[in-house]
Amino acid sequence: MPTIRQLPPSVVNKIAAGEVIERPASVVKELVENSLDAGSRRVDVTVEQGGTELIRVVDDGCGVAPEQLELALASHATSKIIDADDLFRVATLGFRGEALASIAAVSRLTFRSRPVDAPLATELEVVGGAAEPLRPTGGPCGTTVEVRNLFFNTPVRQKFLRTTQTEMGHLTEALTRLALAHPHVHFTLNHGGRLIHDLPPGDARQRIAALLGQDLADSLISIESAEDDISLQGFVANPTHSRPNNRLQYLFLNGRFIRDRSLQHALGEAYRGLLLTGRFPVCFLHLQMPAAAVDVNVHPTKLEVRFQDGGRVYSQLLGTLRTKFLSTDLIARASNPPSGSAADDEIMASTPSASQGLWDWAKRQLGPATGDGQVPEFVPFADRDQRSALQLHRVAPLPFGGRSPAPHASLSPLAADEANRNLADDAAASDGNPFRAEYARSATERFDEPHAGIESLRAPRALQIHNRYLVAETEEGLEVIDQHALHERILYEALRERVLAGAVESQRLLVPEPVDLAASEAAAAVENREVLAKLGMEVEGFGGETVLVSSYPAMLANLAPAEVLRTLVEQILAGGKTPDSRDVLDELLHMISCKAAVKYGDRLTPQEIETLLEQRGLAQDHHHCPHGRPTALIFTREQLDRQFKRI
Ligand code: ADP
Ligand code: MG
Repeated sequence: MPTIRQLPPSVVNKIAAGEVIERPASVVKELVENSLDAGSRRVDVTVEQGGTELIRVVDDGCGVAPEQLELALASHATSKIIDADDLFRVATLGFRGEALASIAAVSRLTFRSRPVDAPLATELEVVGGAAEPLRPTGGPCGTTVEVRNLFFNTPVRQKFLRTTQTEMGHLTEALTRLALAHPHVHFTLNHGGRLIHDLPPGDARQRIAALLGQDLADSLISIESAEDDISLQGFVANPTHSRPNNRLQYLFLNGRFIRDRSLQHALGEAYRGLLLTGRFPVCFLHLQMPAAAVDVNVHPTKLEVRFQDGGRVYSQLLGTLRTKFLSTDLIARASNPPSGSAADDEIMASTPSASQGLWDWAKRQLGPATGDGQVPEFVPFADRDQRSALQLHRVAPLPFGGRSPAPHASLSPLAADEANRNLADDAAASDGNPFRAEYARSATERFDEPHAGIESLRAPRALQIHNRYLVAETEEGLEVIDQHALHERILYEALRERVLAGAVESQRLLVPEPVDLAASEAAAAVENREVLAKLGMEVEGFGGETVLVSSYPAMLANLAPAEVLRTLVEQILAGGKTPDSRDVLDELLHMISCKAAVKYGDRLTPQEIETLLEQRGLAQDHHHCPHGRPTALIFTREQLDRQFKRI
C-alpha cells in the first residue's frame, strides 16, 4: 500500500506557483497589484529579457515593517483579510496571501521595504524558497521587489516560456490592464534599458490615449449608468473602431480586470447591426458593485468572477449601451459617410484607390499577357451552366486551355512594367482611372472601325444599381450580383492559387520601412514571418516593438506597408494562441482580397462590369464570397410572374 504523507511547504508552494505564476507577465501582475494595494502613487517596472532574467517593481506605497517581512513571503499570509467572511467584502486586489510565496518558490527573489516612519529599509532574499537572513539596507520609502531567473529550478516550466518578444507582449498586456484600471497612478515600463511606457497620472481617456493611441481615444463614447448599487461607467468605441478580435474589450469589476463571457455577449448584442460578423467592439468599462454581490474567489488569478445576480448586470450593460447608441449619431462620427455597414466602411475607408490598382492587377492575373498596354482580351465566360444571358455575348477563343491558373506567369516583369506605364499615361490623360481611360479609347477606336460590329455598341450586360449591385438578365429570370462579394471571391481564389504555387508578386522596398507595433503584435509578426513571406510580405524584428518591412504584397500596392502589416498581424492574433498556419493564411487571404476588391459605392464602367462578369467564370465557387455570403441572388421568371400575379 502506498504511504500517505503531508507534502513539505516547498512542494506545496511550487504547486501553488504552477497555478498562479504561468509566465513573467503573471509575476508583474501580482507584484504591481501588491503595489496598488499598498496605496502607491507611482510604480516603476523594469524587466530584462522579457522578464525571464529580471523583473523589478519599485513602488512608493506603505511598505512592510521589518518584523513582518518573513511573514509577507510565507504562504497563506496576508494583511488583506482576516477571516472567511472577509472573502465576501474584499476591497483589495490581493487576498490569497499566496503570490509572493509562489514567486519565491520558483525564482531568486529579493524583497526590500521601508515603511514611511522607518529610518532604514530591510531586505530579505529568498532563493528557490529558501530564505537568507534579514539585512538592513538603504533605500527610499516604499517597496522594491526583484525577481531573477524565473523558473530556474523548474525546468519544465522554463520550457514553456516563449520568445522574449512574446513574453514581453504578455507582460505589457498585464501592465496595460492594471494601468487602465488605475489612471491616477504613474506607471513606467522599462525593457532592456529602453523606456517602453511612461504613463503620467491622468484621467481614464488620457490613459487610453497614452496606451492605445489618440485616434482610438477620440472615437470613444462615454458611458455612465447607476441602478441601485451597481454602477457602470467608462467608454465604448465607435463601431468604426471595431476589431477582428475581442482583445480590446477591457472590463473591470471593482478595479480588477475580468473576462466574462456573459458580459462580452451583452456587449456584442448592444452592437448588433452596427458591426459585421467577425468584428468586435472595443470597450473600457468599469463596473462597481458591493463586494458582497460578487465572488472573486473562483479563479486563482481572479480573472473570472461569479456574480450573485448575473442577469441584472447583463441587462444593465446591454440597456445602458442600447440607450446610449440610440441617442448618439454614430454615423456622423464616422470619418466618411457610410456606404456599407460601419465595419465594411472601416475596411474600405483606408483603400481609396486600391480598387483601381486592383483592376490592373486582376487583369494581369487573370487575363493573357499583354505587352502593348492594350486592355487584355479577357478570358471568356467559362461557366457553362447556360444559366446566364451573358452567353449571348461573343465568346472569344480561349487563349489557354480551360481554366489555366497562371496565364500571367508568362508576363515578364518588364512587360508588366510597360503595361503599367501605359496605363498610367492614359490615367493622367483622363479622370485618373487607367481602366476608364483604356475603355474610352478602345470604344472610340471601335467606333471608327467599320467592322466594329454590334458588340461594341451593345447594351451593358448588367446594370449597376446603387453603386453596389449588378442586375443581369438570365435565361431563367434575373440575377442580382453583389459587386464587392463577387470581386472579393475572384481575387481570393486567384491569390490563393498564387500563394499555393509560391508565386505571389511582392513589391520590394528600396529602404526597409520600420513599423512600430504593440509588443504582442511585433512578437506575432516575427513569429509568423514565414506565413507573411508566403503572402509577399517580408519582415524581420528590429528590436523592441519595431519590425522592419522589406517587401509587401504588390496587390496592396496602394496601401502603406505599415497599415498592411498591422492588419495582417491583427488577423494573425485573432487566430488564437496556436494558429494553424493554413488557417491563418486563409484568413489573411480573405483580408487581402477584401481590402483589394471593388467596394460598395464604387461606380463601375461598363467595361469593368464586363470584366467582373467574365472573370466570374474563373472562380471555382463564384456563388459565395470568401466569408460564405452569397455573391448573387437569382430570381426566376416564374417567381417574377407569380409576384405580378400572372400565374
Ligand atoms: P496578498 O496580496 O494576497 O495578500 P501576497 O503574497 O501578494 O499576498 O503578499 C503578502 C503580503 O505582503 C500582502 O498582504 C502585503 O501585506 C505585503 N506586501 C506585498 N507586497 C507589498 C508591497 N509592494 N507593499 C506593501 N506591502 C506588500
Ligand atoms: Mg498579492
